[in-house]
Amino acid sequence: MTIPERTAPNQPARIVILGAGESGAGAAVLAHVKGFDTFVSDSSAIKEPYKAQLGAYHIPWEENGHTEALILSADEVIKSPGIPEEAPLIQKLKAQGTPIISEIEFAGRYTRAKMICITGSNGKTTTTSLIYHILQSAGLNVGLAGNIGKSLALQVAFETHDYYVIELSSFQLDNMYHFHANIAVLLNITPDHMDRYDHNMQKYVEAKFRITQNQTPDDAFIFWNDDPIIRRELSKHGLKAHLYPFAAVKEEGAIAYAADDEIIINTPIAFNMEQEELALRGTHNLYNSLAAGISANLAGVGKEEIRRALSDFEGVPHRLEQVATVRGIDFINDSKATNVNSCWYALQSMKSKVVLILGGTDKGNDYSEIEALVREKCSALLFLGVDNTKLHQFFDPMGLPTVEVTTGMREAVQAAYGLAKRGETVLLSPCCASFDLFRNYEDRGDQFKKYVREL
Ligand code: ADP
Repeated sequence: MTIPERTAPNQPARIVILGAGESGAGAAVLAHVKGFDTFVSDSSAIKEPYKAQLGAYHIPWEENGHTEALILSADEVIKSPGIPEEAPLIQKLKAQGTPIISEIEFAGRYTRAKMICITGSNGKTTTTSLIYHILQSAGLNVGLAGNIGKSLALQVAFETHDYYVIELSSFQLDNMYHFHANIAVLLNITPDHMDRYDHNMQKYVEAKFRITQNQTPDDAFIFWNDDPIIRRELSKHGLKAHLYPFAAVKEEGAIAYAADDEIIINTPIAFNMEQEELALRGTHNLYNSLAAGISANLAGVGKEEIRRALSDFEGVPHRLEQVATVRGIDFINDSKATNVNSCWYALQSMKSKVVLILGGTDKGNDYSEIEALVREKCSALLFLGVDNTKLHQFFDPMGLPTVEVTTGMREAVQAAYGLAKRGETVLLSPCCASFDLFRNYEDRGDQFKKYVREL
């Protein structure tokens, strides 16, 4: 374990937390509880509940700007995943050699719980929630952390769990060095967040593979066997963990797959169940269910309990969420599809013709990935965003009926309803971030549901 050292004699080491969201505020409380001289700085306004949390422990903080002298004096900095590496302050800290870590790295120093960590470009939240559901239903003492719910740091400060199930984004992984995942799940790697990785795919891939760093032969690495990037990278990372590859169909190397209408897991303990009984539908969710089943199997959960939990899981909002059927038109909310690949899976799982609502803040998207599926499945397109130029350039040549909405969700839902015919599906699966017109993807999805229900 690496604990920051004091720079001045008889003084506690100074930890500065940059960004006071869920993870930053939690990290500050943990640092305070562990006796560090703690300071929090946020370039924007800090939300009231986090101010209250910091206030309860008398932790000093500032908002709407950084006082450099108070930050550059840190022995170690915990950085919110939202702050990019290029931020001038981060560059200054790096130049003077101040260690910069993530909240998960910090919290990991203070718990001996087994860590089940999930990353991937798509499917993290679904799979993390599913694993947590299985372990919790089986009566294990488990915490849920990462991008979901309460921060790991806050839980480590006040709770004792035997397991944590942790969703890890590439940004969190970027600042993890000594953290050790007992079970690591890598679901897939497709381009995402290219704007934060200098449009360099390899940098993003390296971040994802950090989930395997520090693993030993006692640990497990679960991954999608058919992902070309994962396959290509496997040999490069000196993996020491036991490998658990899964695939959609039985194939060489895969220890888990679907065959004869069942899902099969061969190791560590043989497991099978009817595919029909899985709560989550679609090929992408088959992968998520396999990854979750292997994780639970490794954690020692019994077969019956895994079967039950895989079949009674209620799903996560904004991921292929069935909203309503209005005059024979289905409405599906997949607002969390903030990249092109997740939209690909959504379209692929559609059984009827689709009016696709897409658009928002582009993250360097290449729409050619969904071109064939749009031609095959879509009867019309609706571009929802402030600037739809890139969408027009790519999709207009297809000649599909297309409507553009630049104002908001109410108009978009009404226009999509007008475009769709009985028996078709209106699918919100935008390929883009939401920040041009909405607070976040939840706000976008909630507004979609609200206006659909008002039709
Ligand atoms: P993440 O947390 O990685 O963003 P989510 O579980 O929130 O993933 O799902 C995000 C989007 O990706 C949703 O649109 C969902 O339908 C789709 N999705 C879920 N699992 C997968 C997967 N294994 N592969 C591709 N797309 C997926």
